[in-house]
Amino acid sequence: MNKRIELIKGDITTLAVDAIVNAANNSLLGGGGVDGAIHAAAGTELIDECRNLNGCATGKAKITKGYRLKAKHIIHTVGPVWYGGYKDEPEMLASCYQSSLEIARDNKIKTLAFPGISTGVYGFPQDLAALIAVNETRRFLQKNKYPEKVTFVTFSDLHYETYRKLLEQ
Ligand code: ADP
Repeated sequence: MNKRIELIKGDITTLAVDAIVNAANNSLLGGGGVDGAIHAAAGTELIDECRNLNGCATGKAKITKGYRLKAKHIIHTVGPVWYGGYKDEPEMLASCYQSSLEIARDNKIKTLAFPGISTGVYGFPQDLAALIAVNETRRFLQKNKYPEKVTFVTFSDLHYETYRKLLEQ
């Protein structure tokens, strides 16, 4: 396994990293799943900052402070809803990882943690999503000094095993 990539099973809102990535929606004003958990843990100041961002396009990302989280920053990215794979969903998901990694690099974020973007309510097949996450991250880390370390955070045993196998290769 690449020393700059780590895999854990757990709750991303508890991590003391420079930035965690949020699987947000286009409004950036909060939602369910990991987005709801991040907003609940960060506190209401987060929504105040998010209101000034004017939303975010699918496949793009925007950064805020982490407020009450242990993480210093939150990078909000908007994953694609899975419509069967015919609407550029894989390219859009790859773009989420690229945009988030670029923002991390530009802000000199050393440690960054990703949840499985789009793999919850948005219905993206988790094995394909993990492959895209690992490929885009590896490619980016080869070319860039920041982020120094990326952690993939999974919530379920199934997702954990999928990443573990990919990272072994
Ligand atoms: P999306 O709308 O992009 O599908 P979800 O929040 O519904 O986003 O789910 C994205 C992934 O995050 C799912 O795999 C879900 O199991 C996982 N997840 C939900 N809550 C947390 C959490 N607190 N920490 C880490 N992962 C989480």
